Amino acid sequence: MRAICLGGGPAGLYFAISLKLRQPEADVTVLERNRADDTFGWGVVLSDETLDNLEVNDPVSAREIRSHFAYWDDIALHHKGNVIHSTGHGFCGIGRKRLLLILQERARALGVNLQFETEVKDASEYMDDYDLVVASDGLNSRTRMEFEETFKPDIDVRRCPFVWLGTHQKFDNAFTFIFEKTDKGWIWVHAYQFDKDTATFIVECSQETFDAYGFGEKTQEETIAICEEIFKDHLDDHKLMTNASHIRGSAWIKFPRVLCEKWSHQNVVLLGDASATAHFSIGSGTKLAL
Ligand SMILES: Cc1cc2nc3c(=O)[nH]c(=O)nc-3n(C[C@H](O)[C@H](O)[C@H](O)COP(=O)(O)OP(=O)(O)OC[C@H]3O[C@@H](n4cnc5c(N)ncnc54)[C@H](O)[C@@H]3O)c2cc1C
Repeated sequence: MRAICLGGGPAGLYFAISLKLRQPEADVTVLERNRADDTFGWGVVLSDETLDNLEVNDPVSAREIRSHFAYWDDIALHHKGNVIHSTGHGFCGIGRKRLLLILQERARALGVNLQFETEVKDASEYMDDYDLVVASDGLNSRTRMEFEETFKPDIDVRRCPFVWLGTHQKFDNAFTFIFEKTDKGWIWVHAYQFDKDTATFIVECSQETFDAYGFGEKTQEETIAICEEIFKDHLDDHKLMTNASHIRGSAWIKFPRVLCEKWSHQNVVLLGDASATAHFSIGSGTKLAL
């Protein structure tokens, strides 16, 4: 069996690991445009249930992931100066970069051929040479577009703009949602710890609030300064940080909900965000990819 994964995010890497575990003799390659330690975004959350599934599939990488996560089981909702706690939601947060490095190391140890800084053009270039072509090329999957007629994607760009930031402020006892009413409208945050001293801080608002602040014309630094002011009571003088320096101008985006009527075309299979997305508020995109 010869298999190739087009894209080395969580989906491509974990598929390569899983195939090698089942067929050690398989020839498995992962192609990735970025360098091994490049990544956008901050931490991701995985539920208890996902960790249990990973444990069953590959105890070795599951153990590594568990040893690097921040864990909590409360949700805290901050609204008009009140905090409502809800308990019993087991979650762990892990840095996206840390997760990718763990999966890369495990894949290498199992004999997967990882090729970084390799741009994939058309999936059709690999269809004759490989038994299986896995399109793990993410949200904006080029392969999904290449065989659009078969996959029939349905993409619904949701209405609220958001920006994915990080902070050294601690949110280590709960998955935290903060709602602030400003003179320009409501704006809110999804915050969660993902390592000892870093938390994800996603700021989201309606299009009306976004327009009133003029976020579309602001640089990332300007956005950060405004958000630090709005959420200052929750940041205790900690800064907000961006790692989207590869994006020029504003790093605000809208979430595209992706569904596809079919996930395979001959020997090409869509996997992870290329096939379907899950909104970050329910923290399950990576879970689906894994
Ligand atoms: C703000 C935000 C917060 C999130 N929080 C969570 C969370 O808390 N929990 C959770 O489970 N999920 C979360 N997600 C979702 C999660 O990030 C994705 O579901 C997950 O990364 C999907 O993995 P993937 O491997 O399918 O795609 P990706 O992670 O996008 O990986 C695709 C890879 O393919 C590579 N690639 C693409 N095209 C090419 C090409 N032509 N040539 C070579 N390489 C290519 C890319 O460089 C990339 O490395 C969040 C997403 C966002 C936007």
